[in-house]
Amino acid sequence: MDNALFCAVRRVIAHSQCSPRLFILGICWRTIERILDILPILVCYFWFVSVLEEQTTSRPDTYSETIPVNMSEGGTYYILLLAVLFVLQFLSAWLGQKYSFLGGYQIMAGYRRKVLNQIHSLPLSVIFKYRTGKLSDLVTDDINRIENIFTHLAIELFVSSLIPIIIMSILVTLDWQLALALIAGFPLAMLVMRATRSLFIKVSQDKLETNREISGVIIEFLMGIKTLRLFNRSQAWLTKLNGLFDDITRTTMSVEAWGAGPVVLFRLLAELGFVAFLLVCAWQVRESSFDPLIALLFIFLAHRLITPLLDMAQYLNIIRYAAQSEDKTEALLHAKQLPEPILVQKPNSYSVQFKDVSFSYDGISCLENVEFTAYPGEITAIVGPSGSGKTTLMNLICRFSDPDAGVVSLGGDDIKKIGTEEVYKSVSMVFQNVQLFSSTIMDNIRIGRPDATDEEVYEACNNAYCLDFINALPLGFDTQIGEGGSRLSGGEKQRISIARAFLKDAPILLLDEITASVDSIAQYEIQQSLKTLIVGKTVIVIAHRLSAIQGADQILVMDKGSIVQQGKHRELVGKLGLYKNLWRAQYTYLEAT
Ligand code: ADP
Ligand code: MG
Repeated sequence: MDNALFCAVRRVIAHSQCSPRLFILGICWRTIERILDILPILVCYFWFVSVLEEQTTSRPDTYSETIPVNMSEGGTYYILLLAVLFVLQFLSAWLGQKYSFLGGYQIMAGYRRKVLNQIHSLPLSVIFKYRTGKLSDLVTDDINRIENIFTHLAIELFVSSLIPIIIMSILVTLDWQLALALIAGFPLAMLVMRATRSLFIKVSQDKLETNREISGVIIEFLMGIKTLRLFNRSQAWLTKLNGLFDDITRTTMSVEAWGAGPVVLFRLLAELGFVAFLLVCAWQVRESSFDPLIALLFIFLAHRLITPLLDMAQYLNIIRYAAQSEDKTEALLHAKQLPEPILVQKPNSYSVQFKDVSFSYDGISCLENVEFTAYPGEITAIVGPSGSGKTTLMNLICRFSDPDAGVVSLGGDDIKKIGTEEVYKSVSMVFQNVQLFSSTIMDNIRIGRPDATDEEVYEACNNAYCLDFINALPLGFDTQIGEGGSRLSGGEKQRISIARAFLKDAPILLLDEITASVDSIAQYEIQQSLKTLIVGKTVIVIAHRLSAIQGADQILVMDKGSIVQQGKHRELVGKLGLYKNLWRAQYTYLEAT
Protein backbone atom coordinates (compact mmCIF):
# COMPACT_ATOMS: atom_id res chain seq x y z
CA MET A 1 0.00 0.00 0.00
CA ASP A 2 1.07 3.57 -0.54
CA ASN A 3 3.58 4.54 2.10
CA ALA A 4 2.58 8.20 2.32
CA LEU A 5 -0.99 7.10 2.94
CA PHE A 6 0.07 4.71 5.65
CA CYS A 7 2.09 7.43 7.43
CA ALA A 8 -0.76 9.91 7.08
CA VAL A 9 -3.30 7.47 8.51
CA ARG A 10 -1.01 6.60 11.42
CA ARG A 11 -0.26 10.23 12.25
CA VAL A 12 -3.88 11.34 12.04
CA ILE A 13 -5.00 8.48 14.31
CA ALA A 14 -2.24 9.33 16.79
CA HIS A 15 -3.20 13.03 16.81
CA SER A 16 -6.90 12.25 17.17
CA GLN A 17 -6.23 10.33 20.41
CA CYS A 18 -9.12 8.17 19.39
CA SER A 19 -9.17 4.38 19.23
CA PRO A 20 -9.15 3.12 15.61
CA ARG A 21 -11.21 0.06 16.69
CA LEU A 22 -14.43 1.04 14.90
CA PHE A 23 -12.56 2.13 11.80
CA ILE A 24 -10.72 -1.21 11.60
CA LEU A 25 -13.97 -3.08 12.27
CA GLY A 26 -15.45 -1.14 9.35
CA ILE A 27 -12.57 -2.19 7.08
CA CYS A 28 -13.08 -5.85 8.14
CA TRP A 29 -16.80 -5.80 7.34
CA ARG A 30 -16.22 -4.07 4.00
CA THR A 31 -13.65 -6.74 3.13
CA ILE A 32 -16.09 -9.51 4.08
CA GLU A 33 -18.73 -7.82 1.92
CA ARG A 34 -16.45 -7.82 -1.11
CA ILE A 35 -15.52 -11.48 -0.56
CA LEU A 36 -19.21 -12.33 -0.32
CA ASP A 37 -19.60 -10.53 -3.62
CA ILE A 38 -17.35 -13.09 -5.36
CA LEU A 39 -18.74 -16.22 -3.70
CA PRO A 40 -22.06 -16.44 -5.67
CA ILE A 41 -20.09 -16.71 -8.93
CA LEU A 42 -18.10 -19.60 -7.51
CA VAL A 43 -21.24 -21.23 -6.13
CA CYS A 44 -22.91 -20.99 -9.55
CA TYR A 45 -19.81 -22.47 -11.14
CA PHE A 46 -19.82 -25.46 -8.81
CA TRP A 47 -23.55 -25.85 -9.31
CA PHE A 48 -23.02 -25.98 -13.08
CA VAL A 49 -20.18 -28.44 -12.73
CA SER A 50 -22.28 -30.68 -10.51
CA VAL A 51 -25.24 -30.56 -12.94
CA LEU A 52 -23.04 -31.43 -15.87
CA GLU A 53 -21.39 -34.25 -13.97
CA GLU A 54 -24.79 -35.60 -12.94
CA GLN A 55 -26.05 -35.53 -16.50
CA THR A 56 -23.02 -37.16 -18.03
CA THR A 57 -22.98 -39.95 -15.41
CA SER A 58 -26.72 -40.71 -14.97
CA ARG A 59 -28.21 -40.10 -18.47
CA PRO A 60 -25.37 -40.18 -20.95
CA ASP A 61 -27.63 -41.26 -23.86
CA THR A 62 -30.20 -38.47 -23.51
CA TYR A 63 -27.71 -35.63 -23.25
CA SER A 64 -29.46 -33.67 -25.96
CA GLU A 65 -32.79 -33.57 -24.09
CA THR A 66 -33.78 -30.42 -22.26
CA ILE A 67 -32.40 -30.08 -18.78
CA PRO A 68 -35.09 -30.30 -16.05
CA VAL A 69 -36.01 -27.03 -14.31
CA ASN A 70 -34.77 -28.20 -10.94
CA MET A 71 -31.36 -28.77 -12.50
CA SER A 72 -30.24 -31.35 -9.94
CA GLU A 73 -31.16 -32.75 -6.59
CA GLY A 74 -28.68 -30.36 -5.05
CA GLY A 75 -30.51 -27.44 -6.70
CA THR A 76 -32.41 -26.42 -3.58
CA TYR A 77 -29.21 -26.59 -1.62
CA TYR A 78 -27.47 -24.20 -4.04
CA ILE A 79 -30.42 -21.80 -4.17
CA LEU A 80 -30.52 -21.70 -0.39
CA LEU A 81 -26.79 -21.09 -0.25
CA LEU A 82 -27.11 -18.21 -2.71
CA ALA A 83 -29.92 -16.69 -0.65
CA VAL A 84 -27.87 -16.93 2.55
CA LEU A 85 -24.89 -15.33 0.79
CA PHE A 86 -27.12 -12.54 -0.43
CA VAL A 87 -28.42 -11.81 3.07
CA LEU A 88 -24.93 -11.99 4.55
CA GLN A 89 -23.63 -9.61 1.90
CA PHE A 90 -26.39 -7.16 2.66
CA LEU A 91 -25.65 -7.37 6.39
CA SER A 92 -21.91 -6.94 5.99
CA ALA A 93 -22.39 -4.02 3.60
CA TRP A 94 -24.57 -2.32 6.17
CA LEU A 95 -22.21 -2.99 9.07
CA GLY A 96 -19.17 -2.02 7.01
CA GLN A 97 -20.75 1.27 6.01
CA LYS A 98 -21.87 1.99 9.54
CA TYR A 99 -18.60 1.22 11.32
CA SER A 100 -16.26 2.75 8.79
CA PHE A 101 -18.21 6.03 8.76
CA LEU A 102 -18.62 6.13 12.53
CA GLY A 103 -14.97 5.22 13.09
CA GLY A 104 -13.73 7.63 10.43
CA TYR A 105 -15.79 10.55 11.72
CA GLN A 106 -14.76 9.84 15.31
CA ILE A 107 -11.09 9.96 14.37
CA MET A 108 -11.61 13.13 12.33
CA ALA A 109 -13.51 14.83 15.16
CA GLY A 110 -10.52 14.20 17.43
CA TYR A 111 -8.13 15.38 14.73
CA ARG A 112 -10.10 18.58 14.09
CA ARG A 113 -10.12 19.28 17.82
CA LYS A 114 -6.37 18.82 17.92
CA VAL A 115 -5.77 21.19 14.97
CA LEU A 116 -8.08 23.85 16.43
CA ASN A 117 -6.44 23.51 19.85
CA GLN A 118 -3.08 23.95 18.20
CA ILE A 119 -4.24 27.10 16.42
CA HIS A 120 -5.63 28.28 19.74
CA SER A 121 -2.33 27.80 21.54
CA LEU A 122 0.07 28.94 18.82
CA PRO A 123 1.72 32.31 19.39
CA LEU A 124 -0.30 34.91 17.52
CA SER A 125 2.82 35.88 15.64
CA VAL A 126 2.83 32.43 13.95
CA ILE A 127 -0.83 32.75 13.03
CA PHE A 128 -0.31 36.23 11.56
CA LYS A 129 2.26 34.69 9.20
CA TYR A 130 -0.43 32.63 7.46
CA ARG A 131 -2.22 34.58 4.78
CA THR A 132 -5.91 34.95 5.68
CA GLY A 133 -7.01 32.40 3.09
CA LYS A 134 -4.30 29.88 3.85
CA LEU A 135 -5.26 29.12 7.42
CA SER A 136 -8.97 28.85 6.67
CA ASP A 137 -8.15 26.58 3.70
CA LEU A 138 -6.19 24.40 6.04
CA VAL A 139 -9.00 23.93 8.53
CA THR A 140 -11.66 23.44 5.83
CA ASP A 141 -10.45 22.08 2.47
CA ASP A 142 -7.35 20.27 3.67
CA ILE A 143 -9.06 18.63 6.62
CA ASN A 144 -11.99 17.59 4.38
CA ARG A 145 -9.50 15.92 2.09
CA ILE A 146 -7.98 14.08 5.03
CA GLU A 147 -11.46 13.08 6.18
CA ASN A 148 -12.03 11.52 2.78
CA ILE A 149 -9.11 9.16 3.50
CA PHE A 150 -10.93 7.83 6.54
CA THR A 151 -14.45 7.69 5.21
CA HIS A 152 -13.62 6.31 1.74
CA LEU A 153 -10.13 6.17 0.35
CA ALA A 154 -8.22 4.05 2.87
CA ILE A 155 -10.93 1.39 2.95
CA GLU A 156 -11.41 1.33 -0.81
CA LEU A 157 -7.69 1.11 -1.37
CA PHE A 158 -7.31 -1.69 1.17
CA VAL A 159 -10.16 -3.70 -0.31
CA SER A 160 -9.01 -2.94 -3.88
CA SER A 161 -5.63 -4.43 -3.15
CA LEU A 162 -6.86 -7.39 -1.10
CA ILE A 163 -9.66 -8.67 -3.34
CA PRO A 164 -7.50 -9.16 -6.46
CA ILE A 165 -5.09 -11.22 -4.34
CA ILE A 166 -7.93 -13.44 -3.13
CA ILE A 167 -9.38 -13.85 -6.63
CA MET A 168 -5.95 -14.52 -8.06
CA SER A 169 -5.32 -17.32 -5.56
CA ILE A 170 -8.63 -18.92 -6.55
CA LEU A 171 -7.93 -18.57 -10.27
CA VAL A 172 -4.39 -19.93 -9.97
CA THR A 173 -5.67 -23.12 -8.34
CA LEU A 174 -8.26 -23.53 -11.11
CA ASP A 175 -5.97 -22.91 -14.09
CA TRP A 176 -2.63 -21.24 -13.53
CA GLN A 177 -1.96 -20.53 -17.22
CA LEU A 178 -5.16 -18.55 -17.73
CA ALA A 179 -4.64 -16.81 -14.39
CA LEU A 180 -1.17 -15.61 -15.26
CA ALA A 181 -2.31 -14.46 -18.69
CA LEU A 182 -5.06 -12.36 -17.11
CA ILE A 183 -2.60 -10.31 -15.06
CA ALA A 184 0.21 -10.27 -17.61
CA GLY A 185 -0.04 -6.50 -18.12
CA PHE A 186 0.09 -5.53 -14.45
CA PRO A 187 3.81 -5.54 -13.68
CA LEU A 188 4.31 -3.10 -16.54
CA ALA A 189 1.36 -0.96 -15.41
CA MET A 190 2.75 -0.75 -11.88
CA LEU A 191 6.15 0.28 -13.23
CA VAL A 192 4.58 3.19 -15.12
CA MET A 193 2.71 4.24 -11.98
CA ARG A 194 5.90 4.24 -9.88
CA ALA A 195 7.97 6.05 -12.47
CA THR A 196 5.55 8.97 -12.80
CA ARG A 197 4.86 9.28 -9.10
CA SER A 198 7.42 11.89 -8.00
CA LEU A 199 6.71 14.00 -11.05
CA PHE A 200 3.00 14.00 -10.29
CA ILE A 201 3.58 14.96 -6.66
CA LYS A 202 5.68 17.96 -7.66
CA VAL A 203 3.17 19.28 -10.21
CA SER A 204 0.18 18.81 -7.95
CA GLN A 205 1.97 20.55 -5.10
CA ASP A 206 2.50 23.53 -7.40
CA LYS A 207 -1.22 23.48 -8.15
CA LEU A 208 -2.19 23.46 -4.46
CA GLU A 209 0.24 26.31 -3.76
CA THR A 210 -1.16 28.48 -6.58
CA ASN A 211 -4.69 27.70 -5.42
CA ARG A 212 -3.90 28.89 -1.91
CA GLU A 213 -2.12 31.97 -3.20
CA ILE A 214 -5.20 32.83 -5.25
CA SER A 215 -7.70 32.44 -2.42
CA GLY A 216 -5.47 34.63 -0.22
CA VAL A 217 -5.29 37.33 -2.87
CA ILE A 218 -9.04 37.15 -3.57
CA ILE A 219 -9.86 37.57 0.13
CA GLU A 220 -7.50 40.55 0.34
CA PHE A 221 -9.07 41.99 -2.80
CA LEU A 222 -12.61 41.63 -1.44
CA MET A 223 -11.70 43.05 1.96
CA GLY A 224 -9.88 45.98 0.47
CA ILE A 225 -12.21 46.62 -2.47
CA LYS A 226 -13.38 49.96 -1.08
CA THR A 227 -9.86 51.33 -0.80
CA LEU A 228 -8.79 49.87 -4.12
CA ARG A 229 -11.77 51.45 -5.92
CA LEU A 230 -11.22 54.84 -4.29
CA PHE A 231 -7.61 54.85 -5.35
CA ASN A 232 -8.42 53.54 -8.80
CA ARG A 233 -6.31 50.50 -8.07
CA SER A 234 -8.89 47.77 -8.63
CA GLN A 235 -7.91 47.41 -12.29
CA ALA A 236 -4.28 46.82 -11.33
CA TRP A 237 -5.42 44.17 -8.86
CA LEU A 238 -7.64 42.51 -11.42
CA THR A 239 -4.66 42.31 -13.75
CA LYS A 240 -2.65 40.72 -10.93
CA LEU A 241 -5.49 38.27 -10.25
CA ASN A 242 -5.77 37.45 -13.95
CA GLY A 243 -2.06 36.67 -13.99
CA LEU A 244 -2.57 34.27 -11.09
CA PHE A 245 -5.56 32.68 -12.82
CA ASP A 246 -3.37 32.10 -15.87
CA ASP A 247 -0.83 30.46 -13.59
CA ILE A 248 -3.43 28.17 -12.11
CA THR A 249 -4.74 27.22 -15.54
CA ARG A 250 -1.23 26.35 -16.61
CA THR A 251 -0.44 24.26 -13.53
CA THR A 252 -3.86 22.60 -13.55
CA MET A 253 -3.41 21.65 -17.17
CA SER A 254 -0.06 20.10 -16.44
CA VAL A 255 -1.41 18.30 -13.37
CA GLU A 256 -4.22 16.86 -15.44
CA ALA A 257 -1.86 16.01 -18.27
CA TRP A 258 0.63 14.33 -15.95
CA GLY A 259 -2.06 12.90 -13.71
CA ALA A 260 -4.36 11.54 -16.41
CA GLY A 261 -1.58 10.31 -18.72
CA PRO A 262 -0.27 7.60 -16.41
CA VAL A 263 -3.81 6.58 -15.41
CA VAL A 264 -4.80 6.00 -19.04
CA LEU A 265 -1.55 4.14 -19.72
CA PHE A 266 -2.10 2.08 -16.57
CA ARG A 267 -5.57 1.05 -17.78
CA LEU A 268 -4.34 0.16 -21.24
CA LEU A 269 -1.44 -1.93 -19.94
CA ALA A 270 -3.66 -3.63 -17.35
CA GLU A 271 -6.24 -4.51 -19.98
CA LEU A 272 -3.53 -6.11 -22.12
CA GLY A 273 -4.22 -9.10 -19.83
CA PHE A 274 -7.49 -9.79 -21.72
CA VAL A 275 -5.63 -10.15 -24.99
CA ALA A 276 -3.16 -12.53 -23.35
CA PHE A 277 -6.09 -14.44 -21.86
CA LEU A 278 -7.75 -14.93 -25.26
CA LEU A 279 -4.43 -16.06 -26.76
CA VAL A 280 -4.01 -18.68 -24.04
CA CYS A 281 -7.64 -19.81 -24.58
CA ALA A 282 -6.91 -20.28 -28.29
CA TRP A 283 -3.75 -22.18 -27.51
CA GLN A 284 -5.68 -24.43 -25.07
CA VAL A 285 -8.28 -25.16 -27.74
CA ARG A 286 -5.51 -26.29 -30.05
CA GLU A 287 -4.01 -28.44 -27.33
CA SER A 288 -7.55 -29.79 -26.53
CA SER A 289 -7.14 -28.77 -22.89
CA PHE A 290 -9.74 -25.98 -23.10
CA ASP A 291 -12.57 -26.12 -20.55
CA PRO A 292 -15.36 -23.68 -21.55
CA LEU A 293 -16.83 -23.66 -18.04
CA ILE A 294 -13.52 -22.59 -16.51
CA ALA A 295 -13.11 -19.95 -19.21
CA LEU A 296 -16.61 -18.66 -18.41
CA LEU A 297 -15.78 -18.46 -14.70
CA PHE A 298 -12.59 -16.60 -15.56
CA ILE A 299 -14.50 -14.08 -17.65
CA PHE A 300 -16.92 -13.42 -14.79
CA LEU A 301 -14.17 -13.13 -12.19
CA ALA A 302 -11.85 -11.13 -14.45
CA HIS A 303 -14.22 -8.20 -14.10
CA ARG A 304 -14.04 -8.45 -10.29
CA LEU A 305 -10.25 -8.69 -10.52
CA ILE A 306 -9.47 -5.90 -12.95
CA THR A 307 -11.97 -3.27 -11.78
CA PRO A 308 -10.48 -2.88 -8.27
CA LEU A 309 -7.01 -2.69 -9.74
CA LEU A 310 -8.07 0.09 -12.10
CA ASP A 311 -9.91 1.84 -9.27
CA MET A 312 -6.76 1.58 -7.23
CA ALA A 313 -4.87 3.68 -9.76
CA GLN A 314 -7.51 6.41 -9.42
CA TYR A 315 -7.55 6.20 -5.62
CA LEU A 316 -3.79 6.52 -5.48
CA ASN A 317 -4.01 9.86 -7.26
CA ILE A 318 -6.67 11.24 -4.95
CA ILE A 319 -4.80 9.88 -1.97
CA ARG A 320 -1.67 11.72 -2.99
CA TYR A 321 -3.59 14.99 -2.83
CA ALA A 322 -5.01 14.01 0.55
CA ALA A 323 -1.60 13.00 1.86
CA GLN A 324 -0.22 16.39 0.80
CA SER A 325 -2.99 18.08 2.75
CA GLU A 326 -2.05 15.97 5.74
CA ASP A 327 1.57 17.13 5.34
CA LYS A 328 0.43 20.76 5.57
CA THR A 329 -1.64 20.13 8.68
CA GLU A 330 1.23 18.16 10.19
CA ALA A 331 3.50 21.17 9.68
CA LEU A 332 0.98 23.34 11.52
CA LEU A 333 0.76 20.78 14.32
CA HIS A 334 4.54 20.93 14.66
CA ALA A 335 4.81 24.73 14.63
CA LYS A 336 6.60 25.74 17.79
CA GLN A 337 4.51 26.90 20.71
CA LEU A 338 5.86 29.33 23.25
CA PRO A 339 7.38 27.55 26.24
CA GLU A 340 5.02 27.70 29.22
CA PRO A 341 6.10 27.45 32.86
CA ILE A 342 5.06 24.37 34.86
CA LEU A 343 4.10 26.54 37.81
CA VAL A 344 2.17 29.63 36.79
CA GLN A 345 3.32 32.65 38.70
CA LYS A 346 1.23 35.70 39.51
CA PRO A 347 3.12 38.96 38.86
CA ASN A 348 4.19 40.73 42.08
CA SER A 349 3.29 44.09 40.64
CA TYR A 350 2.28 45.42 37.27
CA SER A 351 5.24 47.46 36.20
CA VAL A 352 6.36 46.59 32.66
CA GLN A 353 10.07 46.38 32.03
CA PHE A 354 12.10 45.86 28.85
CA LYS A 355 15.76 44.86 29.37
CA ASP A 356 17.95 44.97 26.28
CA VAL A 357 15.15 43.57 24.11
CA SER A 358 15.75 42.77 20.43
CA PHE A 359 13.28 41.23 18.02
CA SER A 360 13.16 40.40 14.33
CA TYR A 361 10.59 39.21 11.78
CA ASP A 362 12.06 36.39 9.67
CA GLY A 363 15.57 37.64 10.20
CA ILE A 364 14.76 41.32 9.55
CA SER A 365 15.56 43.26 12.69
CA CYS A 366 12.62 45.24 14.05
CA LEU A 367 13.55 46.14 17.64
CA GLU A 368 17.10 46.67 18.88
CA ASN A 369 18.26 46.86 22.51
CA VAL A 370 15.06 48.42 23.80
CA GLU A 371 15.15 49.37 27.49
CA PHE A 372 12.52 51.12 29.60
CA THR A 373 10.24 50.67 32.58
CA ALA A 374 6.58 51.66 32.72
CA TYR A 375 5.23 52.08 36.25
CA PRO A 376 1.77 51.46 37.68
CA GLY A 377 -0.32 54.60 37.99
CA GLU A 378 1.75 56.30 35.28
CA ILE A 379 1.29 56.95 31.59
CA THR A 380 4.09 55.91 29.27
CA ALA A 381 3.67 57.24 25.76
CA ILE A 382 5.42 55.87 22.68
CA VAL A 383 5.81 58.09 19.64
CA GLY A 384 7.72 57.76 16.41
CA PRO A 385 7.35 57.48 12.65
CA SER A 386 5.28 54.58 11.35
CA GLY A 387 7.25 51.40 10.94
CA SER A 388 9.52 52.29 13.84
CA GLY A 389 8.39 49.23 15.85
CA LYS A 390 5.81 50.68 18.27
CA THR A 391 3.11 48.08 17.68
CA THR A 392 5.69 45.28 17.75
CA LEU A 393 6.84 46.49 21.15
CA MET A 394 3.26 46.28 22.46
CA ASN A 395 2.84 42.81 20.95
CA LEU A 396 5.84 41.65 22.97
CA ILE A 397 4.20 42.89 26.20
CA CYS A 398 1.17 40.72 25.33
CA ARG A 399 3.53 37.82 24.55
CA PHE A 400 2.29 37.41 20.97
CA SER A 401 5.86 36.20 20.53
CA ASP A 402 9.02 36.01 22.64
CA PRO A 403 11.93 38.40 21.97
CA ASP A 404 15.08 37.09 20.25
CA ALA A 405 17.22 38.56 23.01
CA GLY A 406 16.62 40.37 26.30
CA VAL A 407 13.81 40.09 28.80
CA VAL A 408 10.28 41.49 28.99
CA SER A 409 9.09 41.41 32.58
CA LEU A 410 6.00 42.18 34.64
CA GLY A 411 6.69 43.25 38.23
CA GLY A 412 10.32 42.16 37.79
CA ASP A 413 9.50 38.60 36.63
CA ASP A 414 10.23 37.42 33.10
CA ILE A 415 6.86 36.96 31.33
CA LYS A 416 8.09 33.55 30.14
CA LYS A 417 7.94 32.47 33.80
CA ILE A 418 4.56 34.08 34.35
CA GLY A 419 3.00 32.18 31.43
CA THR A 420 0.85 33.40 28.58
CA GLU A 421 -2.52 32.85 30.31
CA GLU A 422 -1.55 35.04 33.26
CA VAL A 423 -0.11 37.70 30.94
CA TYR A 424 -3.38 37.80 28.96
CA LYS A 425 -5.28 38.20 32.24
CA SER A 426 -3.09 41.16 33.23
CA VAL A 427 -3.37 43.11 30.01
CA SER A 428 -6.17 44.97 28.20
CA MET A 429 -5.33 46.13 24.72
CA VAL A 430 -7.27 48.56 22.60
CA PHE A 431 -6.17 48.61 18.96
CA GLN A 432 -6.74 50.99 16.12
CA ASN A 433 -8.64 48.22 14.28
CA VAL A 434 -11.31 46.86 16.59
CA GLN A 435 -12.28 43.24 16.04
CA LEU A 436 -16.01 42.67 16.30
CA PHE A 437 -17.78 39.35 15.80
CA SER A 438 -21.11 38.70 14.13
CA SER A 439 -23.27 38.48 17.24
CA THR A 440 -25.19 40.91 19.47
CA ILE A 441 -23.64 44.06 20.89
CA MET A 442 -24.06 42.53 24.35
CA ASP A 443 -21.99 39.44 23.41
CA ASN A 444 -19.38 41.60 21.77
CA ILE A 445 -18.82 43.67 24.90
CA ARG A 446 -19.02 40.69 27.24
CA ILE A 447 -15.89 39.27 25.54
CA GLY A 448 -14.11 41.59 28.00
CA ARG A 449 -15.27 39.38 30.89
CA PRO A 450 -17.58 36.47 29.98
CA ASP A 451 -19.03 36.14 33.50
CA ALA A 452 -20.03 39.81 33.78
CA THR A 453 -23.68 40.51 34.65
CA ASP A 454 -25.88 42.64 32.38
CA GLU A 455 -25.63 45.48 34.93
CA GLU A 456 -21.85 45.36 34.80
CA VAL A 457 -21.98 45.54 31.00
CA TYR A 458 -24.29 48.60 31.19
CA GLU A 459 -21.94 50.29 33.64
CA ALA A 460 -18.91 49.62 31.44
CA CYS A 461 -20.84 51.07 28.49
CA ASN A 462 -21.80 54.09 30.50
CA ASN A 463 -18.13 54.69 31.38
CA ALA A 464 -17.11 54.20 27.76
CA TYR A 465 -19.75 56.68 26.45
CA CYS A 466 -21.49 53.86 24.54
CA LEU A 467 -24.98 53.96 26.03
CA ASP A 468 -26.38 56.72 23.82
CA PHE A 469 -25.60 55.15 20.49
CA ILE A 470 -26.43 51.61 21.61
CA ASN A 471 -29.84 52.65 22.95
CA ALA A 472 -30.54 54.45 19.69
CA LEU A 473 -30.16 51.17 17.76
CA PRO A 474 -33.44 49.37 16.91
CA LEU A 475 -32.87 46.46 19.30
CA GLY A 476 -30.44 48.17 21.67
CA PHE A 477 -27.98 45.71 23.21
CA ASP A 478 -29.62 42.82 21.32
CA THR A 479 -28.83 44.38 17.95
CA GLN A 480 -26.89 41.98 15.75
CA ILE A 481 -23.76 43.48 14.33
CA GLY A 482 -22.43 42.08 11.09
CA GLU A 483 -19.02 40.49 10.71
CA GLY A 484 -16.40 43.13 11.46
CA GLY A 485 -19.14 45.39 12.85
CA SER A 486 -19.92 46.93 9.47
CA ARG A 487 -23.02 48.68 10.87
CA LEU A 488 -21.02 50.77 13.31
CA SER A 489 -18.81 53.82 12.77
CA GLY A 490 -15.10 53.81 13.63
CA GLY A 491 -15.67 55.83 16.79
CA GLU A 492 -18.52 53.55 17.92
CA LYS A 493 -16.43 50.44 17.42
CA GLN A 494 -13.61 52.04 19.35
CA ARG A 495 -15.90 52.83 22.29
CA ILE A 496 -17.17 49.24 22.31
CA SER A 497 -13.60 48.12 22.58
CA ILE A 498 -13.03 50.56 25.46
CA ALA A 499 -16.15 49.20 27.17
CA ARG A 500 -14.56 45.76 26.93
CA ALA A 501 -11.44 47.12 28.61
CA PHE A 502 -13.59 48.65 31.39
CA LEU A 503 -15.24 45.29 31.90
CA LYS A 504 -11.96 43.38 31.96
CA ASP A 505 -10.39 45.96 34.27
CA ALA A 506 -6.88 44.51 33.80
CA PRO A 507 -4.04 46.31 35.63
CA ILE A 508 -2.06 46.97 32.45
CA LEU A 509 -3.66 48.98 29.66
CA LEU A 510 -2.20 49.18 26.16
CA LEU A 511 -3.65 51.70 23.72
CA ASP A 512 -2.43 51.60 20.11
CA GLU A 513 -3.35 54.73 18.11
CA ILE A 514 -6.97 54.41 19.12
CA THR A 515 -8.13 57.85 18.06
CA ALA A 516 -6.25 57.88 14.76
CA SER A 517 -9.35 57.22 12.66
CA VAL A 518 -12.27 58.85 14.51
CA ASP A 519 -13.96 62.23 14.24
CA SER A 520 -13.33 64.97 16.78
CA ILE A 521 -16.53 64.46 18.81
CA ALA A 522 -15.82 60.76 19.18
CA GLN A 523 -12.24 61.67 19.96
CA TYR A 524 -13.36 63.93 22.77
CA GLU A 525 -15.66 61.25 24.21
CA ILE A 526 -12.94 58.63 23.99
CA GLN A 527 -10.50 60.92 25.79
CA GLN A 528 -13.09 61.54 28.52
CA SER A 529 -13.77 57.84 29.04
CA LEU A 530 -10.05 57.05 29.11
CA LYS A 531 -9.62 59.47 32.03
CA THR A 532 -11.65 57.07 34.20
CA LEU A 533 -10.25 53.90 32.65
CA ILE A 534 -6.56 54.64 33.21
CA VAL A 535 -6.74 55.47 36.92
CA GLY A 536 -4.20 53.39 38.88
CA LYS A 537 -3.17 51.32 35.87
CA THR A 538 0.13 50.88 34.09
CA VAL A 539 -0.77 52.68 30.87
CA ILE A 540 1.27 52.45 27.70
CA VAL A 541 -0.12 54.49 24.87
CA ILE A 542 1.00 54.82 21.27
CA ALA A 543 -0.10 58.20 20.11
CA HIS A 544 -0.17 59.72 16.70
CA ARG A 545 -1.12 63.21 17.89
CA LEU A 546 1.59 64.49 20.20
CA SER A 547 -0.80 67.04 21.69
CA ALA A 548 -2.71 64.14 23.26
CA ILE A 549 0.24 62.92 25.31
CA GLN A 550 1.78 66.11 26.60
CA GLY A 551 0.81 65.15 30.13
CA ALA A 552 2.42 61.68 29.98
CA ASP A 553 4.79 60.72 32.81
CA GLN A 554 7.39 59.60 30.29
CA ILE A 555 7.61 59.65 26.52
CA LEU A 556 9.66 57.10 24.54
CA VAL A 557 10.64 58.33 21.10
CA MET A 558 11.25 55.46 18.69
CA ASP A 559 13.05 55.42 15.40
CA LYS A 560 14.02 52.38 13.30
CA GLY A 561 13.46 49.94 16.15
CA SER A 562 15.38 51.82 18.85
CA ILE A 563 14.44 54.27 21.58
CA VAL A 564 16.27 57.42 20.53
CA GLN A 565 14.93 59.81 23.15
CA GLN A 566 13.20 59.45 26.50
CA GLY A 567 11.72 62.00 28.94
CA LYS A 568 8.79 64.33 29.62
CA HIS A 569 7.27 66.58 26.98
CA ARG A 570 8.82 69.73 28.46
CA GLU A 571 12.32 68.28 28.40
CA LEU A 572 12.04 66.73 24.95
CA VAL A 573 10.51 69.69 23.20
CA GLY A 574 13.42 71.84 24.33
CA LYS A 575 16.13 69.51 22.98
CA LEU A 576 17.28 69.07 19.41
CA GLY A 577 16.13 65.71 18.18
CA LEU A 578 13.39 63.61 16.61
CA TYR A 579 10.73 64.62 19.16
CA LYS A 580 11.22 68.31 18.51
CA ASN A 581 11.05 67.68 14.76
CA LEU A 582 7.85 65.67 15.08
CA TRP A 583 6.34 68.30 17.35
CA ARG A 584 7.27 71.13 15.04
CA ALA A 585 5.86 69.28 12.04
CA GLN A 586 2.51 68.72 13.75
CA TYR A 587 2.38 72.24 15.11
CA THR A 588 2.99 73.74 11.67
CA TYR A 589 0.32 71.43 10.29
CA LEU A 590 -2.17 72.56 12.96
CA GLU A 591 -1.37 76.20 12.26
CA ALA A 592 -1.90 75.66 8.57
CA THR A 593 -5.32 74.01 9.01
P1 ADP B 1 4.75 50.85 13.95
O1 ADP B 1 3.67 50.33 14.84
O2 ADP B 1 5.72 51.73 14.63
O3 ADP B 1 4.20 51.48 12.73
P2 ADP B 1 5.35 48.06 13.53
O4 ADP B 1 5.76 47.52 14.85
O5 ADP B 1 3.97 47.76 13.08
O6 ADP B 1 5.62 49.62 13.46
O7 ADP B 1 6.35 47.53 12.43
C1 ADP B 1 7.73 47.64 12.56
C2 ADP B 1 8.42 46.97 11.36
O8 ADP B 1 8.17 45.56 11.40
C3 ADP B 1 7.89 47.45 10.04
O9 ADP B 1 8.98 47.55 9.16
C4 ADP B 1 6.95 46.36 9.59
O10 ADP B 1 6.95 46.25 8.19
C5 ADP B 1 7.55 45.13 10.22
N1 ADP B 1 6.48 44.17 10.57
C6 ADP B 1 5.42 44.40 11.39
N2 ADP B 1 4.66 43.30 11.53
C7 ADP B 1 5.25 42.34 10.79
C8 ADP B 1 4.96 40.96 10.52
N3 ADP B 1 3.89 40.33 11.05
N4 ADP B 1 5.80 40.28 9.72
C9 ADP B 1 6.88 40.88 9.18
N5 ADP B 1 7.21 42.16 9.38
C10 ADP B 1 6.42 42.89 10.18
MG1 MG C 1 1.58 50.48 14.66
